[in-house]
Amino acid sequence: MIGAGLAGLACAIAVLEAGEQAIVYEMARQAGGRCRSFYDPRLERYLDNGTHMIIGANTGALQYIDRLHTNHFTIIAPAVFPFLDLENGECWTLRPNSGRLPWWLLHSRRRVAKSRFIDYLSVFRLLWGQMGGCDLTVADYLSGPLMQRLWKPITEATLNTAPEEASAALFARVIGNSLMLGEHACRPYLARHGLGPALIEPALSRITAAGGIVQFGSRLRTIYAIAKVLRLHFDTGVVETKVGDSVVLALPPWEIATLWPELSVPTAFRAIVNVHYRLDRPVRFPGGLPFLALVGGLAQWLFIRGDVLSVTVSAANALATQTNAVVAHKVWADCATALALPLTPMPLARVIKEKRATLAHTPASNGRIVPPPPLPGLVLAGDWTCPYLPATIEAAVISGARAAAQVLGLRL
Ligand SMILES: Cc1cc2nc3c(=O)[nH]c(=O)nc-3n(C[C@H](O)[C@H](O)[C@H](O)COP(=O)(O)OP(=O)(O)OC[C@H]3O[C@@H](n4cnc5c(N)ncnc54)[C@H](O)[C@@H]3O)c2cc1C
Repeated sequence: MIGAGLAGLACAIAVLEAGEQAIVYEMARQAGGRCRSFYDPRLERYLDNGTHMIIGANTGALQYIDRLHTNHFTIIAPAVFPFLDLENGECWTLRPNSGRLPWWLLHSRRRVAKSRFIDYLSVFRLLWGQMGGCDLTVADYLSGPLMQRLWKPITEATLNTAPEEASAALFARVIGNSLMLGEHACRPYLARHGLGPALIEPALSRITAAGGIVQFGSRLRTIYAIAKVLRLHFDTGVVETKVGDSVVLALPPWEIATLWPELSVPTAFRAIVNVHYRLDRPVRFPGGLPFLALVGGLAQWLFIRGDVLSVTVSAANALATQTNAVVAHKVWADCATALALPLTPMPLARVIKEKRATLAHTPASNGRIVPPPPLPGLVLAGDWTCPYLPATIEAAVISGARAAAQVLGLRL
């Protein structure tokens, strides 16, 4: 496997569980790729590059977690989503019901404040209209009072793309597989101590315990096929495959484009900006949960872990062009308003801009054609290789399991 992100790790675990050997080559000094933890000397805390949320509908991700035999997740059950409107301080909590019939929409205390049942009907139009898939956007279907207070936050959280350009077909699939299945499918799973302890370190332990090898600091530069042998050139040296070996490229699309410029891979991405603040006092969110959705400002989702407040801003290409100091101050202004904290002095902050956090999930990306592997013996994996899923943890681990099945000659 080339790449020790979630796709590469999931693939290696599946291959090793089948009794085969696996070697993972990773260019960085740590595993996890876009889903990682690190020690921040300024805040003197372990931070995630960005807070990740898994939901109950992500059965591929939950199977991966089961395989790690660890319990590092806080599960919010029954599923509830607390919101706060920064413009007027109004709070509400979405409370989907269990079962497939969404009767929660009939109860004013389970839906967006001051909304009416009739406001939600347009989402059914979107769901039905998108059964066959087409090239409309979320905003083509959904508008009105719920756009700012519900559809925009959900679209940006799930597709990392603004509703005006996000694929309605992909959004319909996400809603159909979560909200329309009942609260169980919506339950948020939050990594209690961070992404590393929850998703990455147990995977590395499992790989090494099963006899697998992970080589860090090994960047793949080129691959050649010579007769039936693949010759892989890493920064650290050359590796040749033997008969029966396969190479899984669990890499993001821009790396595939560097290796094979002629291949057609996705080229549009959207940023996610995270700001972590080390607070000097305990805070409790309205709603009493470790997370809170904000509308009417820049900050979108707040998470609290110990004394670290982490803020996520998705679909954040414009914000990502601003300086870290400006980002930290702007986002803090929203946090101070939401949590009734002083605007100054701003606590110690760490800004992380992931400029290519995910694909831009536009209509063009839905059902995208994943190129065939350019050489025999190669298999492609990675979150972008599942054409009908958003680029997420779910897609990454499913792609890894699928690649393993291909390598092992099985069919999923
Ligand atoms: C800030 C942020 C927030 C997110 N939030 C969520 C969320 O809430 N829920 C969710 O489901 N998803 C979320 N995602 C998306 C999720 O993190 C990704 O979909 C997933 O981690 C992708 O995994 P991957 O293995 O496909 O790719 P990557 O994580 O990109 O892994 C690829 C690996 O390959 C390595 N590599 C690259 N080139 C080479 C080379 N030439 N040689 C060797 N190694 C190489 C990289 O260093 C990396 O480790 C978020 C992403 C970000 C950035």
